[in-house]
Amino acid sequence: MEASSTPAQPVDLVDGFGRVVRDLRISVTDRCNFRCTYCMPAEGMTWLDRAEVLTYEEIERVARICVERFGVDSLRLTGGEPTVRAHLPLLISRLAALRLADGRTPDLALTTNGATLRNIAGELRDAGLARINVSLDTLRRDRFLAMTRRDELDNVLAGIAEAKTVGFDPVKVNAVIERGANDDEILDLARWGRDNGVEVRFIEFMPLDATNEWERAKVVTQDEIVSTIGAVFPLEPVPARGAAPADRWRYADGRGTVGVIPSVSHPFCGDCDRVRLTSDGQFRTCLFATDESDIRALLRNGGSDDEIAALVTRAVGAKWAGHQIGQVNFIRPNRTMSQIGG
Ligand code: SAM
Ligand code: SF4
Repeated sequence: MEASSTPAQPVDLVDGFGRVVRDLRISVTDRCNFRCTYCMPAEGMTWLDRAEVLTYEEIERVARICVERFGVDSLRLTGGEPTVRAHLPLLISRLAALRLADGRTPDLALTTNGATLRNIAGELRDAGLARINVSLDTLRRDRFLAMTRRDELDNVLAGIAEAKTVGFDPVKVNAVIERGANDDEILDLARWGRDNGVEVRFIEFMPLDATNEWERAKVVTQDEIVSTIGAVFPLEPVPARGAAPADRWRYADGRGTVGVIPSVSHPFCGDCDRVRLTSDGQFRTCLFATDESDIRALLRNGGSDDEIAALVTRAVGAKWAGHQIGQVNFIRPNRTMSQIGG
């Protein structure tokens, strides 16, 4: 494998709309130990063969090119469930060793369902993980079982506590709200976040489920979420989201912050700075993209760093303005959330 020389100065990866890429989301596996109803079917997922999935060396190489050549300063590991992949701390330590051309360390984060975090949070932190987001959609055990099809609520809560204990600060909790499933828990989740010192980020339900059950009526919008919380715990907006997907509010009484990721009701495509690498090595410029670029073929056929960088540049140059959820032109991607990497 040829490693071409790195240009002295990184160049920004700019798309046709002037947006600069800063964030690379890396899916490390399509597999998962949960079966969340809004993401996967109860049974019958077709998994990638092991040989199709990028090795840690391959992932590191793509990340290094993005960091060193293009100034990407944010790396997010996701899946599927990233913690089910063997030796995840090894990948984390490799990515934590990357440096931008100006010497900075890229921000390294992980999104997890938290089921095994109780046992591995310390190891992840020691490996160099900077931030952690844990998904938790309900505080009720029976509902947790219904929504994830696994009886793991206590483990997830213990995992969140352990993440705090080992020093992740802040710990963020992602809660997908689906009308009729858990929309009556918005206030309970917000209160729990305040009481436990975690920022809860409510996510609007997106049409990326495997069973095609998404419909607009099941989306609980940012406006509804904020007014539900604000009626009990007054909120003040935190200005300037920039490229971050979450809009944030602080509690007026000073007890923390809460966020909403309003992908459906207030799409933030105009500020998007993200690209994605799927676990089978496909480069995507949008969660909802209907096309992909095959980095794995280049990686495995002797492609040089220059050729990989050129593929990335071409793909970003062709990035669209944004998804069109809810409009007649919207086309669902042919992969689901867990296959792309949320
Ligand atoms: N397994 C990990 C987890 O659940 O945190 C990481 C992967 S998961 C696909 C990433 C995020 O996507 C999670 O917060 C999950 O709740 C969210 N998600 C999955 N399907 C979704 C959907 N249809 N709409 C909105 N968010 C979704
Ligand atoms: Fe697994 Fe995360 Fe999808 Fe739930 S949302 S099934 S935990 S990948």
